[in-house]
Amino acid sequence: MRGVIMHTAGDVRVEDRADPTIIEPTDAVIRLTATCICGSDLWPYRGIEPADHQVMGHEYVGVVEEIGSEVTNVAPGDFVVGSFVISDNTCEICQAGFQSKCVHAEFVAQTIGTQAEKARIPYADGTLVKTPGEPSPEQIPALLAASDVLGTGWYAAVGAEAGPGKTVAVVGDGAVGLMAVLAARQLGAERIIAMSRHPQRQELARYYGATDIVEERGDAGVQRIKDLTNGLGAHSVIEAVGTQESFMQAVGATRGGGHLGYVGVNYDVQIPGIELFFAGIHTLGGPAPVRRFLPDLIDLIWNGAIDPGKVFDLTLPLEEAAEGYRAMDERRATKVLLTLE
Ligand SMILES: [Zn+2]
Repeated sequence: MRGVIMHTAGDVRVEDRADPTIIEPTDAVIRLTATCICGSDLWPYRGIEPADHQVMGHEYVGVVEEIGSEVTNVAPGDFVVGSFVISDNTCEICQAGFQSKCVHAEFVAQTIGTQAEKARIPYADGTLVKTPGEPSPEQIPALLAASDVLGTGWYAAVGAEAGPGKTVAVVGDGAVGLMAVLAARQLGAERIIAMSRHPQRQELARYYGATDIVEERGDAGVQRIKDLTNGLGAHSVIEAVGTQESFMQAVGATRGGGHLGYVGVNYDVQIPGIELFFAGIHTLGGPAPVRRFLPDLIDLIWNGAIDPGKVFDLTLPLEEAAEGYRAMDERRATKVLLTLE
């Protein structure tokens, strides 16, 4: 099969990879219908994470081709959506709704690499969710978004306790930030403030439900949020960037007793303990347990209630993945969908 290999930082190639096969009785092999490039794929691309002939990709939708002898929830021919973390969905951690911390958790990005024609999915019963039927071509991008960016934005909005009567501030206008705006809207937030300086992303944020746009950053951004909330700060703040400035902006924008949901991967962020202490806020973050939300998200997409697929603004064939990485690295694209066939 064909698949993306990152030889080293900045060097992405599409090459022949061995076809995956069933290894464990709990595995499934799927043929991908579409895959995509994530903002987090840019970390190795930019040399922030090491890359040495690394398989790439962790978002996926496709059709089950083969199952192991113990798989019962999905069958060959089923169209499925999976999370970017493998989970058994039965252990205590999964049952509590934190499938990304499953005792059998495995990051799809590191070992499986779904920027490819096929993938072996361990713990298929716990990881994959089948759709009610064969999706239309228009539904594919939306279902693919559910695999990570929508599920992650949703988790951040839930962590921030976005809901009726709440003012929600979203720090970050990348794909996850935009999906968090969508989630906050669906969860019934009264006011949604998107922090963005990018005109096209501001427009998309408004499409997904943002009521206000704030262009200021850092302390000025915090002040602007306070000005918009009677000096109190937002009830709910979502951090979807992961830099020092964005994280402290998110902490500062959260009102006392409010909730911060943080999903930007914050490699180099140093949080001064005393600032977090005196902020007096609830925080919940980490790799999103997308699997918890997948059944509901698939329903919302199936019923046409949400349209997360608009977050993809560039579509390329898998063979042109290198151009997709360049476009995202240069911020010419928010999120790149890769088609197969
Ligand atoms: Zn588990």
